[in-house]
Amino acid sequence: MSVSKEKKISKLKNHAIWPFVVAIVMVVVLFLALSAALIAIAYSSIFSSKVQNLYDTAQEVAQNYEENGEDKENFEKICNNMITYTPNLLNVCVVDQNNQLLWNYGGNTPDFNETSQNFSVKAMFDKSAEGNGTEMEFLFNEEENEVDLIQDLQDDSGIGKVFLSMKVWGILPVMNGGEKICVQQSLVVYHHEVLMIVAALGIFAVLAILVLVWNIVSLVRMVRLRKREKDILYIDVPTGGNNLQYFYDKAEALLKANQRTNFHYALLSIRMEKYHNFCSCYGIKEGEELMENLYEKLQEHMQSKELVSHAAKADFAALLKYGEKDNLFYRLDHLLENLKKVRENQKLNFGIGIYWVPEKYEDVATMYNYAELAQETIPEDLEDHIKCFEEEMLNDQRWVRKVEDEMEHALSNREFKVYLQPKYSTREERLSGAEALVRWIHPKEGFIPPNKFIPIFEQNGFILQLDDYMLNEIAKMQAKWLYEGKKIVPISVNVSRAHFTKDDLAEHICKVVDKYNVPHDKIELELTESAFFDDKDILINTVKKLKQYGFEISMDDFGAGYSSLNSLKELPLDVLKLDAEFFRGEDREGRGDLIVGEAITLAKKLDMRIVAEGIETREQVDSLAEKNCDLIQGYYFAKPMPIEEFEQVAFGAPAQA
Ligand code: C2E
Ligand code: CA
Ligand code: CA
Repeated sequence: MSVSKEKKISKLKNHAIWPFVVAIVMVVVLFLALSAALIAIAYSSIFSSKVQNLYDTAQEVAQNYEENGEDKENFEKICNNMITYTPNLLNVCVVDQNNQLLWNYGGNTPDFNETSQNFSVKAMFDKSAEGNGTEMEFLFNEEENEVDLIQDLQDDSGIGKVFLSMKVWGILPVMNGGEKICVQQSLVVYHHEVLMIVAALGIFAVLAILVLVWNIVSLVRMVRLRKREKDILYIDVPTGGNNLQYFYDKAEALLKANQRTNFHYALLSIRMEKYHNFCSCYGIKEGEELMENLYEKLQEHMQSKELVSHAAKADFAALLKYGEKDNLFYRLDHLLENLKKVRENQKLNFGIGIYWVPEKYEDVATMYNYAELAQETIPEDLEDHIKCFEEEMLNDQRWVRKVEDEMEHALSNREFKVYLQPKYSTREERLSGAEALVRWIHPKEGFIPPNKFIPIFEQNGFILQLDDYMLNEIAKMQAKWLYEGKKIVPISVNVSRAHFTKDDLAEHICKVVDKYNVPHDKIELELTESAFFDDKDILINTVKKLKQYGFEISMDDFGAGYSSLNSLKELPLDVLKLDAEFFRGEDREGRGDLIVGEAITLAKKLDMRIVAEGIETREQVDSLAEKNCDLIQGYYFAKPMPIEEFEQVAFGAPAQA
């Protein structure tokens, strides 16, 4: 998978939900923390003014005490006045350093007995820059501090309804005497003050709820989006099942989990052969319906911890468990039987490629590619075949890629060299012709024989360019030798079957040869037997035209593969090349010999000349001479050789450049 695709897919998979969950938790925590802070701030701001008030009153008493402490009457008058006129001031008294009561106005006295105290708090007032100030203690006595919850009391001052009131003693030491001034006040919290806090909290809560709701809505949307994305990522449209991406991800997880179990896994590529043909005959819709049915059948066959997905067109990817390989093959036979039953009246063929997942496995996509590779080596026409992946297949694939990557450069770089294999007359054993055979002299790989690249070129069409190049080289060479006054022999070039898709092939060949002014009878064209199975009309037309132009045409590899006796009837060919296979192996009963003899007789009757290929022994030469074979091409006389060497053989000395 490409890096960019991988990124896109992981982006889809990683639309995480957790940021929303974290955000919700954070909003809740933040709301609680800020609420607490708000309450604390409001509480302290309400109470600090009241406490400050208490301190100021105590200071005033202290000042009066210092000024009028000796004058009991005057001090009493002042204190009573203060109690009367200061809002919420209830009691004033003075105690000595041992908390013994000295003066008391108003009636109540603080209870210094620690066991009965509810709690006491100390606070610093009139702080200087150095941190010095006056410390005052506040006493909340149990009996006296009845906390009057929401009373309908109307405060004296008429400020508003009282929400809460507390009676607090403020105790202020008087600097010089060691006495303490005690003043008791009602700390009153009014409704409107509480309302302010509640309103602030309310606004804040509404905001928090809005954020929370927004987050929850986003979270729900995200969860739904993720489900949709997963569907997009994993659902296969034609079958409605799982797709290849799902297979990759799920198989990876299964393989990881399997590391602790004792069974093995096999990765399979299952293909229904000739799907295009099926769709052409029954329609795409029917084709897709078939895929759906096959997918269902495959699903039925899956056991726990196994997996199947629709990979592409008529391909399915499967991950199956196995203990013994034989058991898996048995299961697959059964599976194939069931798959075929999906359509009673239509013949279905399947090919299965298997990759045995090793202990140290690669990524699933790569392994599936291996299974596919094995599957692709199965010929389409073969009925129900199973093939296991072999390392060799991968090497072959790599080789094909290398050849295809380099072939064009190799041609322009003249890495393809012409070799010539002489043909000898059977009777006189004299050089009478040659065949041009290509060799690839690779700068790194060295000598590469044609069977390693010709089949690849035939597949990808590059053979057209190569054959053209060979024809050019031969025509040029013949022209050069003619110019040098050499007695040249006809040289044959191979014309691949791929050429016979072009109507103007004969004209094209003619043009190339005429460019060098070479007599047409000095160039022979070899057509392989397989060419005779392609477009017959083009072949017959081309052959007829080439003959009119004066070229000799031979049927190469006669007898190899399919018999093409019929072609001999339809085509006016000049030469029959008996395939080397006739002369390979033992021929104890003489059947091969008989066929060769009859083939020669037949060719003679059709007015054709015979060339026997692949002749390696004296006996073979003698036997062919006896049967009236015209020419012999084989290692017995000469192997394919570079041009310089051929010049030695043909003309006795290398030609001058
Ligand atoms: P082919 O056209 O049948 O060529 C004859 C092959 O038989 C050559 O193999 C040749 O080296 C081999 N051969 C000849 N005498 C003997 C013998 O006595 N014993 C044995 N064992 N082999 C012998 P080569 O050169 O490897 O070529 C293989 C095939 O590659 C050719 O078969 C031909 O089909 C193809 N080919 C080679 N050059 C070209 C080309 O330029 N164009 C096309 N289209 N095909 C080519
Ligand atoms: Ca040939
Ligand atoms: Ca041949």
